[in-house]
Amino acid sequence: MLAFPKQGRIKLKGQAYTNLKQRVFALDRARCRVCGRTENLSLHHMVKRSTLRIDTVHNCLTLCILCNQAEKERKLFVKWVDVQTRTIAFSRPLGTVP
Ligand SMILES: [Zn+2]
Repeated sequence: MLAFPKQGRIKLKGQAYTNLKQRVFALDRARCRVCGRTENLSLHHMVKRSTLRIDTVHNCLTLCILCNQAEKERKLFVKWVDVQTRTIAFSRPLGTVP
């Protein structure tokens, strides 16, 4: 059986993870990139932490906990338009409340 390649995975812990979070929040001007809230912010991984461990600024986005939860429940879809400029596009399936 072939093992899933682990090269390229980056999973930070402790202070390093806190530093990443602060860097991402700073890049996103400490605002939820979807709704603009400045409170209850969390780190959203574009590629999920559990599947591919990529803790980098290019894989992480600032989302408030509400938008993060909506994304987990597939009531919100977020994708990168441009990773360099951190431009995103998002959509909500019909019938979901913003
Ligand atoms: Zn939000």
